[in-house]
Amino acid sequence: MRITVLAGGVGGARFVRGLREEVRRRTEAGGPGTTPDEIDVIVNTGDDLWLAGVRLMPDFDSLLYALAGVNDTERGWGRAGETERVAAELREWGVGWPWFTLGDLDLGTHLARTSWLRDGLTPTEVGDRLQQRWELGVHLRPATDTEVDTHVLVRDPEASEDPDATRELHFQEWWTRYRATLPAIAFRQRNIDRARPAPGVAEAIEGADVVLLAPSNPVVSIGTILAIPGIREALAATGAPVVGVSPIIGGKVVRGMADACLTAIGVETDAAAVARHYGSRTVGGILDGWLVDEADASAEAVLEASGIPTRAVPLWMHDLDRSAALAADAIDLAATLR
Ligand code: GDP
Ligand code: CA
Repeated sequence: MRITVLAGGVGGARFVRGLREEVRRRTEAGGPGTTPDEIDVIVNTGDDLWLAGVRLMPDFDSLLYALAGVNDTERGWGRAGETERVAAELREWGVGWPWFTLGDLDLGTHLARTSWLRDGLTPTEVGDRLQQRWELGVHLRPATDTEVDTHVLVRDPEASEDPDATRELHFQEWWTRYRATLPAIAFRQRNIDRARPAPGVAEAIEGADVVLLAPSNPVVSIGTILAIPGIREALAATGAPVVGVSPIIGGKVVRGMADACLTAIGVETDAAAVARHYGSRTVGGILDGWLVDEADASAEAVLEASGIPTRAVPLWMHDLDRSAALAADAIDLAATLR
């Protein structure tokens, strides 16, 4: 079986680790000679940026580090055992952003990536080199090789006399410096009209047996992947059932500030509202099925009526076992569809 996942950083990484574990267990239970399922992960590139002369791909690296087992599980991002000596020097030089710390080990990744980009490799080729270092058990693919860095149009009355003053800043500045507190008016992915899915991405969707949407940010993670011309077409064309997992439980985001993003695009922070935003594939949307938490069981009937078969299961990925069980629920729901 070929499983293709659309994913952002931290929510994506937790889900994909669980999926990899579930696939391993199924392969072991199948006995000797059982071929493991193939997992392709299509990774959001909207958070990417140039900073201090190097190219950062935060969601790609979150997945890379988590799947390699070298991530900082306490902090929830970056490398384990990280130091920040270079960041302290950069601050002295006034280079980079003082509120955006680049760890030393993490900088090693960015330097390697930037060096290969300078040699003429594409982001996909760079991503392939980075993941050769570890036995990940899944294949990570940047959604596009075009730079589509997300910018946020915000209302910022303090920046001028005009109470309606707006300005545009990089997503990472809005998210990390302002903790998503400046009211967002719109998210704009640079170059998105000219972007194409990276090589193999549309094929991974169209050739899959199951397509899963990780419980990632619906606006700036999944939303950016969907905005790349060609991705929605691939989702429409695939013979595979497409099943999504809600990042919202009981009207709240589980971690992070995705509610600020949803509010900005006029979608309620609610599991059923996110499913309706994605829409049923029967009417031009992208979903064949949707998983909500048991706390949102009332969404089942509502969404079935909108043509989105929905199951309520535990959605909190507290540990690897819970993440694996969630992946199993997603695969099992997919098996009943289409
Ligand atoms: P980011 O790129 O690091 O922001 O991560 P993602 O876009 O992949 O995921 C962010 C989303 O993951 C947030 O909206 C969270 O609500 C969601 N999330 C995080 N942990 C969990 C969890 O344990 N269960 C579920 N269902 N969602 C989660
Ligand atoms: Ca992200």
